[in-house]
Amino acid sequence: MAILNQIKIINALKSVLPKEMERISLHEPSFIGNEWNYVKECIDTGWVSSVGKFVDRIEKQLVDYTGVKHAIAVVNGTAALHVSLILVGVEKNDEVLVPSLTFIATANAVSYCGAIPHFVDSDESTLGLAPHKLGAYLKEIAEVRNGSCFNKKTGRRIKAVVPMHTFGHPVDMDPLVEICNQYKIEIVEDAAESLGSYYKGKHTGHLGKISALSFNGNKIVTTGGGGAILTNDDALGKLAKHLTTTAKVPHQWAYSHDQIGFNYRMPNINAALGCAQLESLPGYILNKRKLAENYRKAFANIEGIRFFTEPTFAKSNYWLNVLLLDKKFVGERESLLEATNKSGIMTRPVWTLMHELEIYKSCPKMDDLSSAKNIAECLINIPSSPGLFRSND
Ligand SMILES: *Cc1c(COP(=O)(O)O)cnc(C)c1O
Repeated sequence: MAILNQIKIINALKSVLPKEMERISLHEPSFIGNEWNYVKECIDTGWVSSVGKFVDRIEKQLVDYTGVKHAIAVVNGTAALHVSLILVGVEKNDEVLVPSLTFIATANAVSYCGAIPHFVDSDESTLGLAPHKLGAYLKEIAEVRNGSCFNKKTGRRIKAVVPMHTFGHPVDMDPLVEICNQYKIEIVEDAAESLGSYYKGKHTGHLGKISALSFNGNKIVTTGGGGAILTNDDALGKLAKHLTTTAKVPHQWAYSHDQIGFNYRMPNINAALGCAQLESLPGYILNKRKLAENYRKAFANIEGIRFFTEPTFAKSNYWLNVLLLDKKFVGERESLLEATNKSGIMTRPVWTLMHELEIYKSCPKMDDLSSAKNIAECLINIPSSPGLFRSND
């Protein structure tokens, strides 16, 4: 029986990573630009909270960087998803299609709307939602009536789907868009992990009606905590701003609110940090792509494990790098995680599949979630911080 060569794997990791570091974490932020200047400016001027110029500025930077028409800065990525789902019309008792292989926030945002996540399989070549499989599944379980899609089994409306660009690798969006047009399903992209990733030359977040970014501390750029809503739809962009700022009717002094809105606006001090981070983003991406290339080379000839590379149609940000064990070595993952962490190299398994969590196990799901299961069993995340690549290595 073949045995996984742990020493070879650890040496391959070490050959790529900086030698002088004793412990290497999975992903830590890098503050190499104007972060301190901008944050200090907030404190010096007193503009730390819900008013100040950095919120407008980060929104403009996001529009310029992604090419999406409207960006609305909010308190975190989960809030961005929540409001995006509301804005495409998700209501109580609707179903929303969500990959089972995702971070909990994707499913939770659906629950916050009183809607029900409906779990679908992933594609092993993208790590994201599998469009063709979804198409075949909808053919079996769904019907379109009066311009809406219904689940024939549960009777509930299927209002939206949330493709998530796993670890920065884009979902194959073109076939998904086609299926969703056919079935009258709205697309909300969970682009929390894919700032700086492109699908067929377009930044992620262009192909859904609306999309969500996250600037949590472990993401490619951070605002401490934060997120953003992106949309090319003028009306939705306007509503997103309104709904995330307590639905206050603009007036010089009067407090009037025309809906039950949310206090989801990003504070100015967080935006300040983000403005500086976004200035560094192109450099981070260059470094991360070079780090990924080094990993690819280092793992090219190691038996039993491979480095996951971007899908052919994509240019990915390589937010978190991925190793995949061959199926026959799945049983050795725990011991590999233990050995790598022990040697100072932080590695992690992927999330527990959503349909296996107690809180979501009674939700509707595809019978065949085998690709999500394969990925979940075989995947290991390895150190990916933007500061890890050194051009003089
Ligand atoms: C980080 C993340 C989110 C949520 O972002 P927060 O800013 O932490 O709320 C949502 N979805 C995915 C896939 C994420 O990785």
